[in-house]
Amino acid sequence: MKASGSELGWLTWPSEQGDKRGWEVAQKTLNGSQFYSYSVCNVGEREQDNWLRTTFIQRRPSASRVMVELQFVVRDCNSFDGASLTCKETFNMYTSEADADVGTTFRKGQFKKVTTIAPDEITRKNLQPVNTETRVVDGLSLKGFYLAFQDIGACVAILSVRVYYKTCPATVKSLASFPETVAGSQALSKVDGVCMENAVSEKVPRIYCTMDGEWVVPVSQCQCKPGYEEIKEVCQECQPGYFKAAVPSEKCELCPANTQGTGYGDAACPCTPGFYRAEDDPPTGPCSGLPGAPQDLQATTQLSSGRVLLTWSPPGDTGGRADLTYSVECRRCDGAACQACGEKVRYEPASTGLTETRVSVSQLDAHLNYTFTVNAHNGVSAAASKASPRAHGPPSTAALTTSLQYTGEGVWGGGTTVGFQTGGPGTALGHLICIWGTLDDNLNMTTYTVLVLDRTSVRVSDLAPATTYLFRVQPITEGGAGGASIEDEFKTLADGNTNFPACFELKQLKPLKTYVDPHTYEDPNTAVLKFASEIHPNHITKQKVIGAGEFGEVFRGILRAPGRTEGPVAIKTLKPGYSEKQRQDFLSEASIMGQFSHQNIIRLEGVVTKFKHAMIVTEYMENGALDKYLRDHDGEIPSIQLVGMLRGISGGMKYLSDMSYVHRDLAARNILVNTNLECKVSDFGLSRVLEDDPEGTYTTSGGKIPIRWTAPEAIAYRKFTSASDVWSFGIVMWEVMAFGERPYWDMSNHEVMKAINEAFRLPAPMDCPSAVYQLMLQCWLQERAKRPRFPDIVSLLDKLLRSPDSLKTIADFDPRVSIRLPSTSGSDGSPFRSVSEWLESIKMSQYSENFACAGMVTMEQVLHMRNEDIKNIGVRLPGHLKRIAYSILGLKDQTSTLSVFAM
Ligand code: AMP
Repeated sequence: MKASGSELGWLTWPSEQGDKRGWEVAQKTLNGSQFYSYSVCNVGEREQDNWLRTTFIQRRPSASRVMVELQFVVRDCNSFDGASLTCKETFNMYTSEADADVGTTFRKGQFKKVTTIAPDEITRKNLQPVNTETRVVDGLSLKGFYLAFQDIGACVAILSVRVYYKTCPATVKSLASFPETVAGSQALSKVDGVCMENAVSEKVPRIYCTMDGEWVVPVSQCQCKPGYEEIKEVCQECQPGYFKAAVPSEKCELCPANTQGTGYGDAACPCTPGFYRAEDDPPTGPCSGLPGAPQDLQATTQLSSGRVLLTWSPPGDTGGRADLTYSVECRRCDGAACQACGEKVRYEPASTGLTETRVSVSQLDAHLNYTFTVNAHNGVSAAASKASPRAHGPPSTAALTTSLQYTGEGVWGGGTTVGFQTGGPGTALGHLICIWGTLDDNLNMTTYTVLVLDRTSVRVSDLAPATTYLFRVQPITEGGAGGASIEDEFKTLADGNTNFPACFELKQLKPLKTYVDPHTYEDPNTAVLKFASEIHPNHITKQKVIGAGEFGEVFRGILRAPGRTEGPVAIKTLKPGYSEKQRQDFLSEASIMGQFSHQNIIRLEGVVTKFKHAMIVTEYMENGALDKYLRDHDGEIPSIQLVGMLRGISGGMKYLSDMSYVHRDLAARNILVNTNLECKVSDFGLSRVLEDDPEGTYTTSGGKIPIRWTAPEAIAYRKFTSASDVWSFGIVMWEVMAFGERPYWDMSNHEVMKAINEAFRLPAPMDCPSAVYQLMLQCWLQERAKRPRFPDIVSLLDKLLRSPDSLKTIADFDPRVSIRLPSTSGSDGSPFRSVSEWLESIKMSQYSENFACAGMVTMEQVLHMRNEDIKNIGVRLPGHLKRIAYSILGLKDQTSTLSVFAM
């Protein structure tokens, strides 16, 4: 009323009649404030029935439940004297529904009682407390309703009537918006919502509105769709460079490694160009690249088996993945025509899907160029090949030639050194036989030089001028000398170099030269200067001690002299405090060596004689003394190679014998080996046989003699001749074939001489070709005239090398005599106490662990091993396999003990 400035126009009933007054508008001062009110106060009168009806209250269709809040004042009946009988302190509230305003029509019967209103506090004395009561009117269904207040004789003033209904307000909960909802008459009413922009939900989002207008129990919430994240209850696009792949994830994440965003709102980050995801990589994960090129690709050929071992290291860049594999491609070229190697070529373990960094390729043909390409693949290779034909990273390629390429062609003759090379970069060859010689008018090869090489190249020097040479190089294959030999014919220039050094094979074409005994010179110093060139000590750099000779230390060093190619040299020194006689003896070796020029004789570079410290400078032989070299490579060198080495030594000896030089101390310890495995005879000198050789033993005939190597006639009456050198060569053959075994083992010199006199000879070494052993026996013929001569030996060995089949027949071998076993040798007669003791006795200690790991811990077990078992525990080298197998054989057969060599 205050607001409207007038009364509300509520209907009162009965309408005013005389002094019978019902509800009326009254202004009241309550607790100091002015109020309009509807009041009635007929407390002293009976049967009061005064109605006050509101105007038509239009109802919002959904609001079926409304609240009516009343503020009113009721007076205490006791405050009216004598009215207590009729006075009431309550009034009633009614309601009547209607679809339209009925105006002033009022029918009591149309009203339903809602409740009786009673004050909590009633007005006493001057205190007039205002009561507030709220009542619910429920179940409304028509368009509107009236409220009516029935007074039945109270003194009451209604100050306000507030009619309202409750709603759950429009809201956003969990990214779903829900409309304003009128609180219903049920405890919870279900309300469906809709997901906000860029949010989704599997089911319709839902929430409940309570009777009190409160939202409760949200179910099936909304979440931001991919590419969007919730920020302050709104789904916002991911920032560039961020992504959100799935609905449930919460925040946008930084694009992973090797991916890039496309802008705002990315649900995924595509791979940056050049990077890929494998099929089973998560789309949210990083992308990876193809691996880099495999590194250090090496192709190692074993031409003897037509096999190439390719090895490499993993690429530095794996593309960020651990699932690396490799594949190998092979192309072969015959001249200019190249093609894939095809199915004939075998790969072990496979050509693709390799997880190890090695593969063995076999069934290769000789004299073809092969190119091997190794590619690294990883999990994204398939994805990469879909994108572009490239399914692998940069490849690594190793080329390999199974034939020979001659290099360094050009001027031949005039002392020019010509080389040829086989293989491609990084390849090491298996064994090759290189043969060269001069051609006669009928184009027959008349002289031969045969080298068995384990190298990719060889330098061939000392060729005669204006001479036609034929070179032939053959790989040694499993079946013998490879059929794939290559031949090349060259003619050296007729260049007029008078000092042209000729190798022995060519020397036949020239007048024979003989050795001059330095003793024939009155002054030995003259002899040195005649045969050796003087070097200034400043041109020599000593690097490392490599041995000790009788006269002083032997060094490896570098020779840098004007007019010479700089290179490694061996430097023999004369220790301080020497006598003049010792100095002359020391230098006599140079006087002798200086007279020789042959590829199998150690070459003298020069001497230092004019300074206090005398030195002899020779070519440097990387592999040192032959006996030690063989012992270090026991069982590792194939027979054909051993025979090749012997061929070299025999060539040197033939040269010496042609020069009428008798060596007297030919033994494996006095042969030096270079990196090409070329063997050269060394240790010349006048007194060395007497003084220098620790094997030297004083004999009854006087002098010191290496008994085991020396022919009987030389021991007996100092008859040293080339024939006695041949005997020694036979012993060297035995040493070589037995990989540096000591001739006659631990027999005493006396026992050796006695055995030889009784016609016993060294037995064949294990695995020794019969033809080679036969040659040894020939060298050891008692009657020296019957022994072969060095030219015979050279041509026989050449013949054997040219037809390696001839080496296939192996000489009979008796393990009881060839491997000196303590238990069989009768040294103490006791069996081995342990497997390792036994292995040590046969110099196979390196396999102790293999036996132990295989559970072979007692000799009893060892004796039951078969050849297969020995192989299976890891003894792979044929030489070692045989040595062990033979030893077991010998142990089993102990019925006969060794007395002396069986022949
Ligand atoms: P020698 O006094 O000649 O017996 O030499 C003693 C040791 O020095 C030999 O056993 C070899 O180990 C080493 N030696 C001698 N000459 C050479 C060389 N030219 N190249 C390499 N090592 C050598």
